[in-house]
Formats: sequence, C-alpha cells, structure tokens
Amino acid sequence: MVWTTSDRAQRLPPDWEQRKVVVKRRARGRCQATTHARGCTGRGTQVDHIHAGDDHGLHNLQLLSEPCHKAKNAEEAAERNRARAQMRRRPPEAHPGQLTNSDDTTSERRRDA
Ligand SMILES: [Zn+2]
Repeated sequence: MVWTTSDRAQRLPPDWEQRKVVVKRRARGRCQATTHARGCTGRGTQVDHIHAGDDHGLHNLQLLSEPCHKAKNAEEAAERNRARAQMRRRPPEAHPGQLTNSDDTTSERRRDA
C-alpha cells in the first residue's frame, strides 16, 4: 500500500533516526515480538509501533525482525478490514421519508436488520 509509506514518512518526528538507534540499542538487536513469526531469526532489524498510530514515543516502539514485523502489520490490517466490513454489513438507515411508506419491500428489509 503506497499511501501508508508516503503518509507515514511525513508524520515521523524529526529525530526518528535517533529514536531508531535508541530502540535497537535498548533491544540489544533482538526481535521483541511476543510471539515470533515463522522465519524469524530472533534478530531485530525494523522498528515497529507497538500500537499502530502516531505515537512515536519510545514506550510505543519495539524492535522486530522482518518476518515478525510483516506478520504484525498483516494482523493489524486484517483487524482494520474486519472492523470496516462490520461497518459495511450494517444496513443503511432508512430515509425518514420512507417510513411513512408502508409497502412490503420496506418491511421486508427491516425484518432482515
Ligand atoms: Zn521475531
């Protein structure tokens, strides 16, 4: 997804490179994932936001291996998609004007909801 990288790069703090160094040093170069993805060597190479978003504080940063970082991002994306699908599944609100119209198609739709 191109928008993620371009957007994210602009929102990173000016001392981001410095923070990455601190996070890597703090992790002693190890992958800090709670559960490691297949292919993880245990060596951290990428700085990850523990909770996705714009919190770039050191408490919200961890060092991950590439496989673990990918797995976490995929999981977060799946979570967003699930939430979005949940929104879509909700039937559209009937226009107030339609409520006075008591034809069968309207009541049919309302029984499904
Ligand atoms: Zn790992």
